[in-house]
Amino acid sequence: MAFLNDYHVHTDNSMDCKFPMASMCEQALQSGVREIAFTDHLNHHLLDLDLGFYRADKYFADVEACRARYPDLKILAGIELGEPHRWWKRIAPIVDNYPYDLILGSVHWVGKESMFDANYYRGREPQQAYHEYFEEVVQMVNHGGFDILAHVDLPKRTAYGIYGAFDAAALEDDFRAVWQACIDNYITPEINTKSLRLSVAEAHPNMDALRWYVEMGGKRLTFGSDAHTPDSIGSGMGEARRIALGAGLHYICHFEGRRIIQWSPL
Ligand SMILES: [Zn+2]
Ligand SMILES: [Zn+2]
Repeated sequence: MAFLNDYHVHTDNSMDCKFPMASMCEQALQSGVREIAFTDHLNHHLLDLDLGFYRADKYFADVEACRARYPDLKILAGIELGEPHRWWKRIAPIVDNYPYDLILGSVHWVGKESMFDANYYRGREPQQAYHEYFEEVVQMVNHGGFDILAHVDLPKRTAYGIYGAFDAAALEDDFRAVWQACIDNYITPEINTKSLRLSVAEAHPNMDALRWYVEMGGKRLTFGSDAHTPDSIGSGMGEARRIALGAGLHYICHFEGRRIIQWSPL
């Protein structure tokens, strides 16, 4: 696929990734990825392990070095914000003062509870656990300050060991609330392929959930592997394309300077 781009990739600017940006670039080129966005974590939750880890100066020095070293790879400067609606005062000075091409918004925490902590799911019925998560996502999307909604239904991956298979149909109202907020606020959903590599074996979102977005008038879309290791870069993009086309989306968006600059046919 000539357009092949991966808009959700981590480097050692994230605490949970050990690989320098250059090694991710080399693998991207080998995998046929032509456009990549490095979206390292910026988290402010007081219990988050990587609190205080991200340094924008160091990140942009890596981006500039890699742009010079790999001219055949289009490198976009990105960032993955954790709950921007809750930490905006601390985030704004960073996103306003550095030249990001795109910004991901993610919910990893609902209140004081981590979506990666099994106790969140053990203490709730599945419907309730997902509903509280989706309500947080809607708040975040309505707040804005970012461009792309990351892993829309993250808990289906992190709850898989407790709840088992995910039933999107049971959560249609919650998905539609998220999609409406995305459409109203010009926020682009991604198809995140990380979960295809894990037990849940289903992208964020699956085809049914994405179809509701299309029915409601949604058109914008990006793809992201959420790679934390070089071997995952670009993975699952064929499946992402199949999901997008099956749901009725025929274009992928390209970003630059926090704007959509081009739509490529899938
Ligand atoms: Zn994330
Ligand atoms: Zn990520």
